[in-house]
Amino acid sequence: MPVTDFDVIVAGAGPAGSTAATLLAQHGHRVLMIERGRHPRFHIGESMLPFSAPVFARLGIRLEASDYQRKDGAEFIDEGTARSIRFALNGRYQPYQVERARFDHSLADNAVAQGVSLQQEETVRSVHINATRVRVETDRQQYTARYLVDATGRSAFMGRQTSAIQRIEGLGCFALYTHYRVTSPQARALFQSGDIKVLMQDIGWIWVIPLVNERLSVGLVVRDKSATALRGAALFEKYLAASSVLQGLLQGAVAETGVHSEADFSFSNQQRYGQRYACCGDAAGFLDPVFSSGVFLAVVGAQRVADRVHEALATGTEATADLLATDGQELDEGFNTMRLFIERFYRSDMVQRLFFEADRSDTIREEISALLSGDLWRRDNAFKRMLLEGRQGRKRTA
Ligand SMILES: Cc1cc2nc3c(=O)[nH]c(=O)nc-3n(C[C@H](O)[C@H](O)[C@H](O)COP(=O)(O)OP(=O)(O)OC[C@H]3O[C@@H](n4cnc5c(N)ncnc54)[C@H](O)[C@@H]3O)c2cc1C
Repeated sequence: MPVTDFDVIVAGAGPAGSTAATLLAQHGHRVLMIERGRHPRFHIGESMLPFSAPVFARLGIRLEASDYQRKDGAEFIDEGTARSIRFALNGRYQPYQVERARFDHSLADNAVAQGVSLQQEETVRSVHINATRVRVETDRQQYTARYLVDATGRSAFMGRQTSAIQRIEGLGCFALYTHYRVTSPQARALFQSGDIKVLMQDIGWIWVIPLVNERLSVGLVVRDKSATALRGAALFEKYLAASSVLQGLLQGAVAETGVHSEADFSFSNQQRYGQRYACCGDAAGFLDPVFSSGVFLAVVGAQRVADRVHEALATGTEATADLLATDGQELDEGFNTMRLFIERFYRSDMVQRLFFEADRSDTIREEISALLSGDLWRRDNAFKRMLLEGRQGRKRTA
């Protein structure tokens, strides 16, 4: 008879799900992770922040330069004015740019190696929670557990079930992206530095992320969709052709796929935990691709959920509805700092005034680098304080 009763069921085997599942298994709990896809599967979101490293270390994951592209910095370029600034990011921890198919697969394999049961190509269809148990129905069978972790990414299973998803307005509207195989001298130089490049455009911005095996991930994020009638490949190609940086990088390049798109990605989940369940990763809310905070916030949040759920399972208090309340507040500080940073990027001339001026002050440059690295909880960062104080009187909405 297959086992259908567990301590914890984790829905979704992306970075958040694999992190929560692995840490709970390390604590000795019986964990089932259910994934509707099959690894390796494509996923966008390739640029990692340095401060994810301590979580990866706890998982027992070591990122190597033979598998992934080292990321040493982030360069912001305004081609209109020819101004640019580079922030070094390889300080305390070495970050990487990863192909997500490989990376997410290795996290899921690592979870299984540490005792997690993984069901793939199986979709969670409904969740029923009562005072004593969680019952999860998939398209194949039914399972029970003491606790559910929702790590279903932007599908946000529990958030949608409880109608708690709210769009965040004013950030990126949609993204168009593809991968190229590249051979130009400019691309070779970029593989040496490993920098992510952010090219500022009138309509939004473009990311350029070097990946191993001489490949570049290129994506256009559009801020205001009413600014152009063009859509899809025509819009993407227009902006690539207008960028002299990209024209150099992509000389002789071959696109590996057609142009993909993602829209309406920014949302908050107003009900991130409740009796016998908690959400983590994008299922708890997603901001925006700029500053590459998605996977970082996903694994840091999943780690916090796993540690708290472990304590509760050990003491038999896992039915407490506000189990995550204190952690939620602390996580909010990081999430809100990143949210305000991103809002400033889209709504003010922060990039022009502060980024490009950061050359003048080592302190500001270092403070911005700290936020771009994921060092979000540091108290002595005046740039962070400036972001938070600008929000006085506004309550957390994410
Ligand atoms: C355009 C764009 C660019 C981005 N760029 C970056 C970047 O450069 N760096 C970065 O850090 N982040 C980036 N992100 C964000 C990043 O992709 C996410 O934050 C990250 O993948 C979150 O991980 P997760 O585990 O929460 O969700 P996911 O990685 O989405 O994993 C969720 C998993 O749940 C599974 N699932 C969903 N529903 C069900 C169900 N009902 N039953 C079973 N399984 C289910 C899915 O198949 C999926 O495998 C980007 C996002 C976008 C939209």
